Amino acid sequence: MRIDIVTALPKLIESPFNDSILKRAQEKNIVEIHIHDLRIFAENKQKSIDDYAFGGGAGMVMTIQPIDKCISHLKSQREYDEIIYMTPDGATLNQKLANKLSLKGNLILLCGHYKGVDQRVRDHYITMEVSIGDYVLSGGELAAAVLADSIIRLIPGVLNDETSALTDSFQDNVLAPPVYTRPADYKGLKVPEILASGNKKAIEQWRMDKALERTKERRPDLLGE
Ligand code: SAM
Repeated sequence: MRIDIVTALPKLIESPFNDSILKRAQEKNIVEIHIHDLRIFAENKQKSIDDYAFGGGAGMVMTIQPIDKCISHLKSQREYDEIIYMTPDGATLNQKLANKLSLKGNLILLCGHYKGVDQRVRDHYITMEVSIGDYVLSGGELAAAVLADSIIRLIPGVLNDETSALTDSFQDNVLAPPVYTRPADYKGLKVPEILASGNKKAIEQWRMDKALERTKERRPDLLGE
């Protein structure tokens, strides 16, 4: 998979990809991350990427020219499955969407700033709009990092234990069960005995029961209740 991230603040988005699982995914050549600085594509002298909103009002708007130049350049190099604009009024990111996008080959993620991008960008260049939740961030970079992380960890070979992502919350419309590690007894706080019993079938059943219990308690909506 290849993910191109288009941003006015490249430094802001670099670090999540330089550590841990996302870094290893690149080292294993499973995913390529390319970050593009929008200012490089601006054709005006000042290299500005924003302007006042037509009709007045508070806040600047990101202009169409550098975004057009950057996206057109990328599209001239290869085909993209989706060109995604990160925006609070987009479809809310969930595990189903992350699963769907993890099967794609090439994605562009466009990060907005200020009041957002000129509507003509959304109308003519963007194929999908994604929000990471009902709140407003200052820019799309953190949202793009969240989206990219949720997608990349699902690609086979990225996690050391392939089954790990499959047993995470939301994967089967249930939350994950509780997890414990050593020591089995910490100052009298004990791990449920069944987990140390070695009885794989019973442990599996316990985990399923606990996952269901937790889901009923915290997210009954996932069970259609
Ligand atoms: N005026 C916009 C609105 O009310 O919908 C908000 C603009 S916000 C201050 C600036 C940028 O941050 C957006 O263009 C978008 O790229 C990003 N952003 C903010 N909140 C987001 C969210 N919940 N999900 C995805 N991107 C978000």
